[in-house]
Amino acid sequence: MTQRSVTVLGATGSIGLSTLDVVRRHPERFSVWALTAGTKAQELAALCREFKPAYAVMADIDAARELESLLEDLPETTVLSGEPGLCQVAAAEEADTVMAAIVGAAGLAPTLAAVRAGKRVLLANKEALVMSGKLFMDAVAASGAELLPIDSEHNAIFQCMPADKIRNPVAAGITRILLTASGGPFRTFSKESLDSVTPAQACAHPNWSMGQKISVDSATLMNKGLELIEACWLFNTTPDHVEVHVHPESIIHSMVEYADGSVLAQMGSPDMRTPIANGMAWPERIAAGVAPLDLFAIGKFHFERPDVQRFPCLRLAADAFATGGTAPAVLNAANEIAVAAFLEGKLSFTDIPVIIERTLAATEVVDADSFETIFAKDAEARVQASEQIGLLSA
Ligand code: NAD
Ligand code: MG
Repeated sequence: MTQRSVTVLGATGSIGLSTLDVVRRHPERFSVWALTAGTKAQELAALCREFKPAYAVMADIDAARELESLLEDLPETTVLSGEPGLCQVAAAEEADTVMAAIVGAAGLAPTLAAVRAGKRVLLANKEALVMSGKLFMDAVAASGAELLPIDSEHNAIFQCMPADKIRNPVAAGITRILLTASGGPFRTFSKESLDSVTPAQACAHPNWSMGQKISVDSATLMNKGLELIEACWLFNTTPDHVEVHVHPESIIHSMVEYADGSVLAQMGSPDMRTPIANGMAWPERIAAGVAPLDLFAIGKFHFERPDVQRFPCLRLAADAFATGGTAPAVLNAANEIAVAAFLEGKLSFTDIPVIIERTLAATEVVDADSFETIFAKDAEARVQASEQIGLLSA
């Protein structure tokens, strides 16, 4: 049994809490080195009392002050703040495993710090990879970090591939990746009825319980678009070798097709503790507290093609990947701004792709030659997307 010292970036989120649930089940195997969160000091304080990390980091400075006073009687935990604090614990020598579970572009710098320090990096934060693509994968290769996918689809694909050929699917005899999608809560809605759907409806996912941002992404199919890009980088392939299959039961988490006609699928109850436990213990297998699959109760599997007329975000993501350079970073930033506006009631659901498309059109694409360029384009696209939202409501 390999003992691991773990840092959880985004510990108070949906993935973070599932990670800590797996840790809790295996105290002999995992210890917690650091926990981080954005703004929720009280929630992070409660986790610190249970897991007694050496470090706790709040991205928000005021929240860090609050956490410090909440943890006055817990001298073993040192409180840090801001992005420097996040990057410090992500790269700390004492931890060998980093769960990258911050949502959105805010996760890129700390995830990259973990990559550069050569950690086992458990990648949930798909936005970091979508934004920086080749630069990110080059950093992984340069440091020898062990990058393991946590996104359920990518973890499924990983499990269906020979471990030594995950970046060389051609040599493995792989002909296609079949990326499954639930279709989200609006899969059967007409184009017209999508205009008036609410944030509460969008966040009520039929199969998965997730953070708000990814729930909206699942509803627009942007999540599948980001995952298409994620799959191309992780498995060194191209979109013409990846086919999205809407599978409303969310039992098959994705599939890999081989030259001999074999199609391998990874299945399981829709519970993120399975891919999390897979990454944390890999190549060993450990209990994750997940309900056993009852195929008799499920009975049938269904498959449909995605409808990019009703859900244009999937097409926008594929186009941005084809454009290359900084286009995926702009797509991601515009999406984050549009989703936040939708959640605040300032943008309709069907205007999310409109804002993304207009932001892409208004933002010059340049070579993604450095992380500085990526961060600058991310910032530029956020301003542009906010302006586009203003124009739409004017
Ligand atoms: P969430 O909103 O539940 O949690 C996000 C975490 O990030 C929280 O701990 C929050 O405090 C922290 N955070 C937010 N903004 C921050 C900032 N600016 N700086 C530092 N920390 C910040 O999100 P989630 O659903 O757990 O998703 C996390 C990531 O995992 C996302 O990238 C998502 O796409 C990916 N993912 C999630 C699921 C899922 O089932 N939830 C599945 C696959 C992939
Ligand atoms: Mg996924």
